[in-house]
Amino acid sequence: MSKLYPGATGNWEAVIGLEVHAQVISESKLFSGSATAFGAEPNTQVSFVCSAQPGMLPVINQECVRQAVRTGLAMGCQINLRSVFDRKNYFYADLPQGYQISQFKDPIVGEGIVNIELEDGSNKDIGVERLHLEQDAGKSMHDQHPTMTYVDLNRSGVALMEIVSKPEMSTPEEAAEYFKKIRSLVRYAGTCDGNMDQGSMRADVNVSVRRPGEELGTRTETKNVNSIRYVMQVVESEIRRQIDVIEDGGRINQETRLFEVATGTTRTMRSKEEAHDYRYFPDPDLLPLEFSQQFVDDLAKDMPELSDAKKKRFISDLHITPYNAGVLVAEKESADYFEALLSATVEKSEKPTSELGSLVSNWVTGDLFGALNKLGIGITSSPVSISHAAELLSLQIDGTISGRIAKEVFENMLESGKSPEIIVEEKGLKQVSDTGEIEAMIDEILANNVDKVEEYRGGKSKLFGFFVGQVMQKTQGKANPQVVNQLLKPKLDD
Ligand code: ADP
Ligand code: MG
Repeated sequence: MSKLYPGATGNWEAVIGLEVHAQVISESKLFSGSATAFGAEPNTQVSFVCSAQPGMLPVINQECVRQAVRTGLAMGCQINLRSVFDRKNYFYADLPQGYQISQFKDPIVGEGIVNIELEDGSNKDIGVERLHLEQDAGKSMHDQHPTMTYVDLNRSGVALMEIVSKPEMSTPEEAAEYFKKIRSLVRYAGTCDGNMDQGSMRADVNVSVRRPGEELGTRTETKNVNSIRYVMQVVESEIRRQIDVIEDGGRINQETRLFEVATGTTRTMRSKEEAHDYRYFPDPDLLPLEFSQQFVDDLAKDMPELSDAKKKRFISDLHITPYNAGVLVAEKESADYFEALLSATVEKSEKPTSELGSLVSNWVTGDLFGALNKLGIGITSSPVSISHAAELLSLQIDGTISGRIAKEVFENMLESGKSPEIIVEEKGLKQVSDTGEIEAMIDEILANNVDKVEEYRGGKSKLFGFFVGQVMQKTQGKANPQVVNQLLKPKLDD
């Protein structure tokens, strides 16, 4: 049962499909040896092929093929052992060939299923229709000269994967979670860096509305949406707009729209009547792309553990809460940091992995993420190294410092960059676990508070906390709370 959107004349249902463009991680372009590094000087990564000089021939880059297959495997898709490159013909200043080499009828990757998790804890399978390989175009720069447009061909010919979903999402949240999941999958697989600011990943967002139970309505397609929040805004505003148009007696035109960040809404870019006829046909310069099942099987064997499997393992083997596990696997870097820290802590503290998962995950998702959030930085720029963090946790695990003091030491680590052992040494923060020392302190406190001891013994058991507090005050929070409890109880209950 999908969510209903109320209109003036009754309820509506939304249908959403996404086409995600993901730039392949590869040293060189799809059909040439030119480099693909981001941020290079304009037109410094352009071969004769990328600038479409007469007589140049494209040569398929095997690495891009491997990456497309690996992405297909990550999404559980059918891999097609034979696919065909087609020419998609259109004219544009930043497209020197006059056509884009893409795949049309026979893509390299076929159907699959991606599972998403929603905020209420429920799951939903979203169908993937296909993944095909295609060339990126160059970039027109309109802001370099008052009267001229410049063209940078560095991107021209860079390999893109277009991942097309089935029209199976029905809310802004589902669209956002699907987009996030695709981004997570390609980043775990190492096939696309998912960097939306640099244009490595963007989505075309298709939206339509219909009455529950009716056929699919006419869709609009909003191009080049490059953040998860924008995807949600596009879907939200399109659902609203389309319901209003239809209820006012109008019709939805199948058209291409543009998202405007300033208003959070979309506007018409071109209608279907103006749409291109791309006159697709198989590129005569390229043979059909064929590879063996063995090639696919070998790639499948070498796939890294992906987020779903990792999450399951964190929960079952490391006894981490499903919530923490979800937070940790959401970004590959967080999961990597956590796993590296866990093994460093295991090594340092000589405790078994299964005993430390919960403590380490709580520290990473709580203390560390809290601090990083305040600093406004990501985990890869964490000012606290894995080895310092492992040292801090080990000091807490072996009882050298209490959990409370560990937080104080962590604050200090963030400011000073010093190792926790040095901080504990310099500030004299070692936990007092010496029973003789603590016992003497307790005796003194009880002697100085005879009235309170009487009240406690008379039934005011809440006062136990007062005595613990006194010991903590005397030791500046350094007394081992377990030892204090163990010694205090029998003395008071005497
Ligand atoms: P095109 O290449 O013209 O954009 P596709 O058949 O490749 O057309 O479909 C593009 C996307 O539109 C797919 O992600 C698909 O799920 C989605 N889509 C198709 N029909 C609808 C619809 N009625 N409402 C919403 N999305 C749709
Ligand atoms: Mg499309």
